[in-house]
Amino acid sequence: MSLPQAETREESYFVAQLAAEAKRQDVAAPATIDSLIAKLTYLSDEETTLVREAHTYASQAHQGQHRRTGHDYITHPTAVAQILANMNMDHQSLMAALLHDVIEDSETSRAYLGEIFGSSVADIVDGVSKLSKIFASRDEAQAENFQKMAMAMAKDIRVIMVKMADRLHNMRTIGVMSDAQRKRIARETLDFYAPIANRLGVQMIKSELEELAFRALYPLRSDRIARAVTAARGNRKAMVDEVQTTIATALNREGIVADVIGRQKTIFSIYRKMKTQHKSFAEIMDVFGFRIIVDQPDACYRALGVVHGLYSPLAARFKDYIAIPKVNGYQSLHTSLMGPQGAPIEVQIRTKQQQAVAENGIAGHWLYRSNSEFESSQQRARQWVSDLMELQSRAGNPMEFIESLKIDLFPDEVYVFTPKGKILELPRGASPVDFAYCVHTDIGNSCMSCRIDGQLAPLSQQLQSGQKVEIITAPDSKPNPAWLNFAVTSKARSAIRNELKQQQGSQSIALGRKLLNRVLGAANTSINDLDFRRLRRVFSELGVRKLDELLESIGNGDVSAHLAAQKLLSADNPDYQAIAVEGAGPVTIAGGEGLVVSYGRCCGPLPGDPIVGHMTPGKGFVVHVETCNNLSEVRRRTPHEITPARSTSDVDDEFQTVLRVNVRRRKGIMAEVAAEITSCDAGVESINVEERNAEISTVNVGITVRNRDHLAKLMRRLRRITAVINVARRAN
Ligand code: MN
Repeated sequence: MSLPQAETREESYFVAQLAAEAKRQDVAAPATIDSLIAKLTYLSDEETTLVREAHTYASQAHQGQHRRTGHDYITHPTAVAQILANMNMDHQSLMAALLHDVIEDSETSRAYLGEIFGSSVADIVDGVSKLSKIFASRDEAQAENFQKMAMAMAKDIRVIMVKMADRLHNMRTIGVMSDAQRKRIARETLDFYAPIANRLGVQMIKSELEELAFRALYPLRSDRIARAVTAARGNRKAMVDEVQTTIATALNREGIVADVIGRQKTIFSIYRKMKTQHKSFAEIMDVFGFRIIVDQPDACYRALGVVHGLYSPLAARFKDYIAIPKVNGYQSLHTSLMGPQGAPIEVQIRTKQQQAVAENGIAGHWLYRSNSEFESSQQRARQWVSDLMELQSRAGNPMEFIESLKIDLFPDEVYVFTPKGKILELPRGASPVDFAYCVHTDIGNSCMSCRIDGQLAPLSQQLQSGQKVEIITAPDSKPNPAWLNFAVTSKARSAIRNELKQQQGSQSIALGRKLLNRVLGAANTSINDLDFRRLRRVFSELGVRKLDELLESIGNGDVSAHLAAQKLLSADNPDYQAIAVEGAGPVTIAGGEGLVVSYGRCCGPLPGDPIVGHMTPGKGFVVHVETCNNLSEVRRRTPHEITPARSTSDVDDEFQTVLRVNVRRRKGIMAEVAAEITSCDAGVESINVEERNAEISTVNVGITVRNRDHLAKLMRRLRRITAVINVARRAN
């Protein structure tokens, strides 16, 4: 059998069939409140009452609303709750299932739900609503990321379980949707929901979602395969019966209590194998599948021995998922055998509980809540969670167990949207800067600020899954060294470093030009007035090849401007007299020099202070207060290395300086001083206490302020504290 290519006209018959099926009472409204309550024997009376109350509330909220099938809307949430009740999910999941559409479809707010039904239920309902919105804005190309994002966002696995059940019931009634909607929803189900169900180990939901979606998407193909399966089953029946009886009899003889079941392949799994493994229908159907369900784990291995005694096993096809479970918690023994007449046989062997987990995944762990197997079931559940999350979850009671499910399934990644709806995967802790560089290096290099979910946010803010990030760029914006404090991706970090290096190069050249021109100015000349073609000798003497390199060396302190000027002038004019640096004017510090100009921590100069600059190896041009004690030695030995400077007033930045505060010692005075500084909108960088005597301490406080006025205001405020004796700027 080959797959039909064109499915157009013939489809209409199947579409009509799907629609009729969707409207059937047992499909559209399979449960009533009474049939639901009848299922809840595993819950306490109080829990059952809460479920009933949630149903009453939802009925009123959806009063007058109908589904496309023509049924009252409340039939849908009731059906969803029923699906979860079949998996013995806890009462909060059932309540959330009943209420899952009330926020979307009625006037109820999340907060109000929380007041009536408690925050856990409200959180699940809210999570389901959010998840639905995320899925509504999806993009096929990003299926994998969407799955992860959904998982990362839903901190409580019950959110996903409710969403799965919701989608399952919607898929059962998909026949009433328009062609386009049906295809879109079915595609989405195959791309996102079925894989998530698989990831959570919920095989029952996964298989049904796949079957329904496949049928809705490709009705004709689905029908062709289904017919072929029915036909093949007739031919195979004798063989299946023979193997089944042989195995059951042998197990019985060994005293192993077991159910032996002939396994049916699903239509979609056949289709997928035909498509991906390029196998013919016959090749796939030729394999006979059986499942043996036993009571106890040790019986699995004994049963394995029995079947291996009956038929010869195929080498290398044995898998022990009991000893090493799959990450989604699946446990079973798998073996392949040579059956009668050489027919290949696949056998799965597992316990009843392992079967429950295989069908219901995470929910399967609730199934054994009330009986003696609970202990081991809970241990297994914990194992499941910790395997999945690679995190250790804590031991404890059932509530703690539910709590322990509220962990990220993807602890190392965040998933965020670009403005165009594309999803980017970033490491946990990533900032908007990482995001910007992830989009494009140019975006990162010119990034100025950002919006997160439409709100302006700092570039250092850690991103959360599900956020929409928009980077605002400016053509003259440049990477800032502070970005290295919060950029985490290697792409961003290396790009920032690279850019800073280049910036530093051009900033050094600009500063070097200023410094050299200043000294040359004292000799009534300038860089532009010199004929550098005649001065090449000086370049080689100073170890540079061209003017820019010379300026860069001056700007970063490798060559002193004074020395360079002396050499240039004496090479230019043999009669040259040494220039007196004192005659040169101050260098202007405008605040935009970036990395090559810094401010001395010793004296903490502020805009408006009389300042000088000094080339310090490794730090570049360091600005000090004119009277800074740290410069007295330099001033005595090499005064020409101290460059008078002038800061222009429009510098809008934070400056560090140090205050010496003498205080009377008493409890809490440090905190009071620090609080006063912060309340003045200044920053506290460091606090150092020298104890003078029993009564008085000297506190050196490193602070950040905007300018001299800001500092003066702060000092006035500090003096008002009664325990403060005096306040002064540190002199050195
Ligand atoms: Mn729904």
